[in-house]
Amino acid sequence: MTDKPALKLKRLQDMAVKGRRALVRVDYNVPMKGSRIEDNSRIRETLKTLEHLIAEGAKVVLVAHLGRPKGKVEAKYSLRPVAAELAKLLKRPVAFADDCVGPSAEKAAAALKPGEVLLLENLRFHAEEEANDPAFAKALARNGELFIQDAFGALHRAHASTAGVTRHLPGAIGFLVQRELEFLDRVIGNPQRPFLAVIGGAKVSDKLAVLDKLLERVDSLLIGGAMAYTFLAAQGINIGKSLLEKDQIDAAKAVIEKAYNKKVECLLPADHLVVREIREDGAAVATQAMAIPPDMIGVDIGPHTIEFFVERIAKAQTIFWNGPMGIFEMPSFSHGSRAVAKAMAEATSRGATTIVGGGDSLSVLAKAGLAGKMSHCSTGGGASLELLEGKTLPGLAALAS
Ligand code: AMP
Repeated sequence: MTDKPALKLKRLQDMAVKGRRALVRVDYNVPMKGSRIEDNSRIRETLKTLEHLIAEGAKVVLVAHLGRPKGKVEAKYSLRPVAAELAKLLKRPVAFADDCVGPSAEKAAAALKPGEVLLLENLRFHAEEEANDPAFAKALARNGELFIQDAFGALHRAHASTAGVTRHLPGAIGFLVQRELEFLDRVIGNPQRPFLAVIGGAKVSDKLAVLDKLLERVDSLLIGGAMAYTFLAAQGINIGKSLLEKDQIDAAKAVIEKAYNKKVECLLPADHLVVREIREDGAAVATQAMAIPPDMIGVDIGPHTIEFFVERIAKAQTIFWNGPMGIFEMPSFSHGSRAVAKAMAEATSRGATTIVGGGDSLSVLAKAGLAGKMSHCSTGGGASLELLEGKTLPGLAALAS
C-alpha cells in the first residue's frame, strides 16, 4: 500500500460474533444545536456495521465521544440524543447507559440479548479516555467480549477506546474503517493518472507534512484558501492584509522548490476575491492579477483561478480534495469552494475517482447538495491526512496482529 509494510488487520466479517457482546467504537461526534442533531451522517455511516452485527446475533455495545467535555460530565455533551436518533435509523430500540464504565454500563451490557443495541455515555466524561489510562481501558473492556473498531475519525489518536482497550479484547475493523482504508489505499498505492490534489484551508503549518508527501505522489497540486497567501508571499508577491503565516514562508518555498524538482505542477491562485473588511455583506471585487492591493484582504479564489482549477479537475483521473478555497462559511466567499465541489461531482460522473476529506470540504458538499456525488467522502479529515502522510495510525497499529 505505502512505503511501509501493510498492517495485518482482522475484519469484522472474519469474526464469529453470534451471541457475543461486541464493544464497538464508533464516531458519533455529530454537530449539535442544543439537543438537536444537525447532521446525522456520522450515525448513518455506521449502520452497515451495526446491521451486520444485529443480523449475526451479536449483542452490540457502542462507545463514542461527543465534543470536548475535558473529563467532566456536562449535560450538553450527553450522547442520549444520539441513542434516540440511532433508534430511528435502525428502526429498533437502542438502550442507553449513563456511564461508559462501572456498574451502570456493565449491568446494561450484561442485560443485552442477541441483536440488541446499547449506547454508553460519552467516553470523554472521563479524563482517562484521552490519557489512554490502562485501568480505564480495562474497565471499558469489561463491557464486551470482542472489540470492533469503526471510528475512522478517531484512529489517529491513541486513546483508551482506540488503543488501550485492544489489549484486553480480540479486535477487528468494521465496514466503515474498511471502506476508508480501501479508498485511501487507492490514492496512496496505485492512483489512476493524472492524479490531482486540491488543498485549501487556513493553516499551512497543519498541512505541510501532507503537502510534502503529496508531492511524491501527485501530478498536480492546486493550492487555494488562505494558505495560498503564504505561498504567494514566499514568491515575493504582494498579498495586502490577507492571512499570512510568516514563520511558514521558508517551508512554503521548500514545497515550491520540491514541486519544481519533481516536475509536479504546483498551481497557486492567479487572481482573488478581495474585500476591505470581512463582513457577510462586504462587497468583494476580483483582482486583475496575482497581487493583492495593500489595504485589501483575500477571501476566495478569483474567477480566472476557478476556471483553470476546474479545467485541471476536468482532466484528472484521481482527485483528492481537503480544505476550502475561501471563507466558505459566508456565501459570497464560497464561489471557489463550490466550483471545486461541482467540478469534482462532474469528474465522478465521468468515471474519475474523487475523494474528499475534512469537515469544511464536506460541509461545502453538503450545502451544495453534492455529498452523494463523490466516490468517497472521508469521515476523518485528520486521520485521512495522516494516512496520506504515510503515518501509521495508532488505532490501527494497536489492532494489528
Ligand atoms: P483549516 O482549518 O486550516 O482547514 O482552515 C479552514 C478555514 O479556513 C475555514 O474556516 C475558512 O473560513 C478559512 N479560510 C479559507 N480561506 C480563507 C481566507 N482567504 N481568509 C481567511 N480564512 C480563510
